[in-house]
Amino acid sequence: MPEKKEMTAPQKAIVKMGLTRDIDLALHLPLRYEDETRIVKLRDMGRGAGREGDTVQIEATVTACEIAYRPRRQLLVTVDDGSDTCVLRFFNSYPSQQKALAVGNRVRVRGELKGGFAGWTMMHPSFRAAGGELPTALTPVYPTVAGLPQAYLRRAVQSAVERVDLTETFPAGLGYQIGHQPAWNLREALSFLHHPRPETALETLEDRSHPAWQRLKAEELLAQQLSQLQSKRERDRLQAPALQARPGGLHAQLLAVLPFQLTAAQRRVGEEIALDLARPVPMHRLLQGDVGSGKTVVAALAAAIGIDAGWQCALMAPTEILAEQHFRKLIGWLEPLLSPRGQRVAWLTGSQKKKERREMLALIESGEAALVVGTHAVIQEQVQFRNLALAIIDEQHRFGVAQRLALRSKMGTGADAGPSGAREPHLLMMSATPIPRTLAMSYYADLDVSTLDELPPGRTPVVTKVVSDQRRDEVIERIRAQLAQGRQVYWVCPLIEESEAMDLTNATATHAELSAALAGGTTDVMVGLLHSRMPVAEKKAVMSLFTGGQMGVLVSTTVIEVGVDVPNASLMVIEHAERFGLSQLHQLRGRVGRGAAASACVLLYSMGDAPRLGEAARERLKAMAQTHDGFEIARRDLEIRGPGEFLGARQSGAPLLRFADLATDTELLVWARQLAAQMLDSHPELARQHVARWLGGKSEYLKA
Ligand code: ADP
Ligand code: MG
Repeated sequence: MPEKKEMTAPQKAIVKMGLTRDIDLALHLPLRYEDETRIVKLRDMGRGAGREGDTVQIEATVTACEIAYRPRRQLLVTVDDGSDTCVLRFFNSYPSQQKALAVGNRVRVRGELKGGFAGWTMMHPSFRAAGGELPTALTPVYPTVAGLPQAYLRRAVQSAVERVDLTETFPAGLGYQIGHQPAWNLREALSFLHHPRPETALETLEDRSHPAWQRLKAEELLAQQLSQLQSKRERDRLQAPALQARPGGLHAQLLAVLPFQLTAAQRRVGEEIALDLARPVPMHRLLQGDVGSGKTVVAALAAAIGIDAGWQCALMAPTEILAEQHFRKLIGWLEPLLSPRGQRVAWLTGSQKKKERREMLALIESGEAALVVGTHAVIQEQVQFRNLALAIIDEQHRFGVAQRLALRSKMGTGADAGPSGAREPHLLMMSATPIPRTLAMSYYADLDVSTLDELPPGRTPVVTKVVSDQRRDEVIERIRAQLAQGRQVYWVCPLIEESEAMDLTNATATHAELSAALAGGTTDVMVGLLHSRMPVAEKKAVMSLFTGGQMGVLVSTTVIEVGVDVPNASLMVIEHAERFGLSQLHQLRGRVGRGAAASACVLLYSMGDAPRLGEAARERLKAMAQTHDGFEIARRDLEIRGPGEFLGARQSGAPLLRFADLATDTELLVWARQLAAQMLDSHPELARQHVARWLGGKSEYLKA
């Protein structure tokens, strides 16, 4: 590629599309193909050669060429292919066109053929002089952008495919064989996909089952697995403090004061984490568990191990409300145990008063704060840990790679840097959005995953009803009934993506509506409003009224989505449920059913102006009513929305799978996973070449 200043417009467009290396161009696959291998006779149309509306190619002689003025100026050219005639129409004609289409010229014309009582016509066909060889393969049509003509891109791709180094990187004998199909190599696969033979069954290209596609998908998945496994192995060479739980230590003491027994799942997961912590290698573990499965206590127990060993731990949550809730819970459990040891739990947030913040920073720096709970404020520059050994991130998908890296680099000055100097804290990431198995195996392959697959006992399943907005009155009646029993109610307002202001209007209107509808009963009902634009102090005041039980109904935008825990709430109404994603609905529903009372979730949908509910929305609501299993919901969500939504910040800037599809390529994924481990052990050079070919510089993100 020449210097930037010398680049032509199409070259610039190619770079802008990200097609900088030969391999990028070679992997730029056609959107569709055109068949230019045949010339048809007009007479045969409708008799097997093609149909009206098809794009066809004919060779014919021009018999008339004239400008017409009605209904508007146009060039009309009549051609005769010896079997029939066809009229070509061009609005905006140029003298050069007229010259090329002069009467008597033989031309090859390609366009969409239309019938009609006046005979065959083509609108703006492409044409050139007749004769010359016909191509033997289908012609590719590539995705392109303005300023990058198809013909230019075709040539660029073609020469890249010829030039690019496609040396085999699959180790010989390590079996690339999918099903009974013969294995293709990458060069064969790419040449074929850019120029398939005309007799190719196009369905096998469309559904990507063709051996050429299989090879490409195998390559891509292998690159992904290799790069993740590599970063995992690199991390295993780093050092972290080995943290061992002592008999009778803080971990045991915390267990003893908890007001409940751990579930079997919590015990199992706790042991998995404890084993990781005991190793002198940084843990990198994802703890996934459905909403309400009790992740917080698992995190607290892990922290207890670290603190007991003389280190600091940090817990970071994405919102202030959630962070504060954790803070209260952890203080309640841990402070009585910590204060006799002269230790504290510190609290850090953006909205904190300067003085309080200074105090907290001092506690953290001196190490007196054994545990630090907070929002993003925890990773700010001024925060100096003395010796951070364990960083816990709640709702990890809400944080970006950079934020996770920042937390990992905060080990602190008091930490003994060890002989290699490369010491890192352990990292525990928590998520309430379960990751479907195929996703865990692919995008999350560099992580260890622990799963809480059991809810604490005494929960009653939430009954979910899908109800038309027209029956709003009945829903309000239901709210009254719950309130009369001393229960509390959430009402979540629609998400309007385009406008936060509209969200607010909606929530405000609903708040007024409910306040009016519920006023004048036997007891006074407090209806509160919570939305993302409120000042933090106000949000906290509202939340504490609801948590404390004084407020009966909480109307909110989706700010309550994460982690809020009010066991007395027994009814969740979600307005315009059709606008929410499946995982989001599931998370919201998880706010109820946390106590012993029978709980319900009402999904209000509105037909609005649209005559019917969209198909995807209908699928989502149906899925919600049918299942409570977070994994099942995640699996369906993956089907409906694809992986991008799941990955959130983790993926930012990093390549998604372009060719493989996790829903259909599980077999290939399993194969790639196995081969990746073998390759790193026995063929590291091939592995390096393969990753470089596929990911170039883009594999950096995996280090986080
Ligand atoms: P999540 O996994 O959604 O973060 P939490 O940690 O907030 O769940 O736990 C939900 C609720 O269940 C909390 O009130 C918590 O104290 C309680 N809880 C956790 N574990 C148990 C258990 N083993 N038995 C009973 N209640 C539990
Ligand atoms: Mg939680």
